[in-house]
Amino acid sequence: MSYQSAQPFPFEKSPSAVAAAEREALLRNPGFGRVFTDHMVTMRYSQEHGWHDGKIGPRGAFPLDPATLVLHYGQEIFEGMKAYRLPDGGASLFRPDANARRFRSSAERLAMAPLPEELFLQSVRALVRTERDWIPAAEGASLYIRPFMFATEVLLGVKPSAEYLYCIIASPVGSYFKSGAPAVTLWVSETYTRAAPGGTGAAKCGGNYAASLAAQAEATAEGCEQVVFLDAVERRWVEELGGMNVFFVFDDGSLQTPPLGGTILPGITRDSLIVLARDLGLTVREEPYAIDQWQADARSGRLTEAFACGTAAVVTPIGTVKGRRHGFTIGEGGAGPVAARLKAALLDIQNGRAPDRHGWLDRLA
Ligand SMILES: *Cc1c(COP(=O)(O)O)cnc(C)c1O
Repeated sequence: MSYQSAQPFPFEKSPSAVAAAEREALLRNPGFGRVFTDHMVTMRYSQEHGWHDGKIGPRGAFPLDPATLVLHYGQEIFEGMKAYRLPDGGASLFRPDANARRFRSSAERLAMAPLPEELFLQSVRALVRTERDWIPAAEGASLYIRPFMFATEVLLGVKPSAEYLYCIIASPVGSYFKSGAPAVTLWVSETYTRAAPGGTGAAKCGGNYAASLAAQAEATAEGCEQVVFLDAVERRWVEELGGMNVFFVFDDGSLQTPPLGGTILPGITRDSLIVLARDLGLTVREEPYAIDQWQADARSGRLTEAFACGTAAVVTPIGTVKGRRHGFTIGEGGAGPVAARLKAALLDIQNGRAPDRHGWLDRLA
């Protein structure tokens, strides 16, 4: 089967597609990840047939044998990206080629069959075209796209699955944080770590999230919104949040973010903000930053801002940091000007309001 044509996937319309009026009502206040579009992409892999049977059909449940490998050994990876409404009514994706590349490296790390990047791109574009009426037009809203893949071989033996199911679902979203608060509160986990050298920290896999939930629960119990992880070896260096990378802003106007080294998820937002900050003439260092230094710098005023970033949360200021040995507030505890400027620069490109100097937008015909 060739996937090269303009409409590469057979399409079956959902018999229970939501009517236009109801869809408009849902789009007015979608929240995050609770409203879903009508259709999904599915594609299968087997050693015998390679990637095959790609289609767009009604969104629905998967029948799973109780011995399906993913249910036992967790071979699962995913991506997170957004489709944005453009001022001319069109739509675009943001750096989908980077998601395609990362999906392939995540698959390789989990010993799964890599999906060719071109097939990933074609399938994402095809679903967004099918569901284009689900892209919200409101400021700050978008259509969140969730490609994922899991092991489907029926077997209890421990080995890489010989069969996989790739799927994409989509969900119109508003803001990630319900509170609408200007800044988040972080809990420094001394109990748990997220990723160790040689582990899966740089892969976007469900297992990393499963392992982070007890730490997140600890943060919630301590009255904090998010957990911040330290490195697993020295328990000293700030790595990232459960699902977001982190940046620090200093009083000389420079920025710093922990370097990628296998234990940090290589965020596309992180990478884009480094480029945009440098475009604005700011210095950005990719260097380790110690938690004690963070506290000292926040207290002395050398650190003026800190923020988290990711596709879902975009740019989110960090107000207060708490832990068993730590407690400090950054600046006034609210949004700072550098985070605001970078967020605006990113959103302006994503929403087609600013020139796309780096060729990051993928406009859909
Ligand atoms: C997805 C993710 C991020 C952010 O990556 P983006 O490409 O910017 O969305 C950061 N950390 C973790 C652990 C993630 O899973």
